[in-house]
Amino acid sequence: MQYISTRGDSLGQYCDVLLEGLAPNGGLAVPEQLPHIDAATLERWRSLSYAELATEVIGLFATDIPREDLARLCAAAYGGGTFAADEVVPLRDIGEGMTLVGLSEGPTLAFKDMAMQFLGEALEYVLAKSDRVLNVLGATSGDTGSAAEHALHGRDRISIFMLSPQGRMSAFQRAQMYSLHDDNVHNIAIDGVFDDCQNLVKQLASDLDFKRDHSIGAVNSINFGRISAQIAYYFWAWLRATDALPAQDRTGFEVSFAVPSGNFGNILSGYYAKRMGLPVRKLVLASNENNVLDEFFRTGHYRPRSAERTLATSSPSMDVSRASNLERFVFDLLGRDPQRTAAAWQELDTRGEIDLSSEQHRLLPEFGFVSGTSTHEDRLATIRTFFENSGVTLDPHTADGAKVARDHVEPGVPMLVLETAKPQKFADLIAEALGTPEEMDAATRALLDAPQRVTDLPDDEQVLRAYISERALH
Ligand SMILES: *Cc1c(COP(=O)(O)O)cnc(C)c1O
Repeated sequence: MQYISTRGDSLGQYCDVLLEGLAPNGGLAVPEQLPHIDAATLERWRSLSYAELATEVIGLFATDIPREDLARLCAAAYGGGTFAADEVVPLRDIGEGMTLVGLSEGPTLAFKDMAMQFLGEALEYVLAKSDRVLNVLGATSGDTGSAAEHALHGRDRISIFMLSPQGRMSAFQRAQMYSLHDDNVHNIAIDGVFDDCQNLVKQLASDLDFKRDHSIGAVNSINFGRISAQIAYYFWAWLRATDALPAQDRTGFEVSFAVPSGNFGNILSGYYAKRMGLPVRKLVLASNENNVLDEFFRTGHYRPRSAERTLATSSPSMDVSRASNLERFVFDLLGRDPQRTAAAWQELDTRGEIDLSSEQHRLLPEFGFVSGTSTHEDRLATIRTFFENSGVTLDPHTADGAKVARDHVEPGVPMLVLETAKPQKFADLIAEALGTPEEMDAATRALLDAPQRVTDLPDDEQVLRAYISERALH
């Protein structure tokens, strides 16, 4: 399979785009053509384990990785006991016509492990094949950084430099990152806020000489390897949701998905699954108070906020000012026309917004998208209701998904709500919602008590540059 940029130009194959999601012309890597899965193939996939299914799905995109190698990578990512549940992604009925899709069984208790664990394997493989090294540089406010570190620690040919804002993460998030002691993990706490960390990364990454000389790369949410790995769990969820149906009723049986969204990476994977032929009725996008994407899907106006106008909410992993993956969807919306896509992003640069209101009427019938917003009060009420009615504690992000999903449940159409994190990660909010703190399990206690290692640095590009130069792999 060949990859192209959303703003024109061809980019090579899967292994070529794995290290660099952003095209030189500023666009994002997308498959030249999406593969199509027919009903018979879907039925053949029913008996596969999660690792085997991931091999089939990712294999459609990674045609330049030999199948037996890919099977080995997927078995290592999903078969080795890294995920708490045997089935990797368990499904659970939570009432009101909704089913929780358990994407947070991995080491950092958030859905990002699903893609990151595969990406860790795939990067190590590609680097060994091409005799290269990679120094991953990133900034995190919590979930992404820990998922990346837990996927990359101890690996050959890879080191990771992760900037986090000093004193701005929860005790749990700090413990998840700073308790890793591998030589290839460099935790750097910057004297500043998350945006300062991100600006430092941008400054270094825009110095192309520095980037090349030190083999700097990223594993952020635009990475197509992550998108492709996420597509697998949409297929898995549909298969498990239809297991109990009589065989003759399964073909074309529609489900809907509700997806707590920030950078639009997770739900983009769901949209690709639908385009590939998975019977998906609705893709329900849930925003928090930073509801730029909800506004886009309701009106066709995309108006990203500045970092200063982005609110700090109680579902922090969705506090995104710019949905970095949206360009991939808009490319399809504009007929996969790179000129029109480039013009739209030009408009964004000059006017600060994109007006696609003339296309808005197509978003539901053609693409399946609906959307909604959930607030702090909604989050608390939703956590409470589901706890009282079904005994399940939702994390704040998943609660946003369930809240918005409620408005879109239809009789006979299972609503699959993606569990993007576990409640243990957000103990304070759970205590606020339920009146009692979540019981701390032994693993959480041990994690919080583990010795931590982190280097404090000032918000200073030159200091950071020197720090990385001394420690980067060559
Ligand atoms: C990253 C994240 C999200 C948002 O996912 P996107 O792919 O950025 O839309 C939602 N919930 C949690 C818990 C996350 O970590």
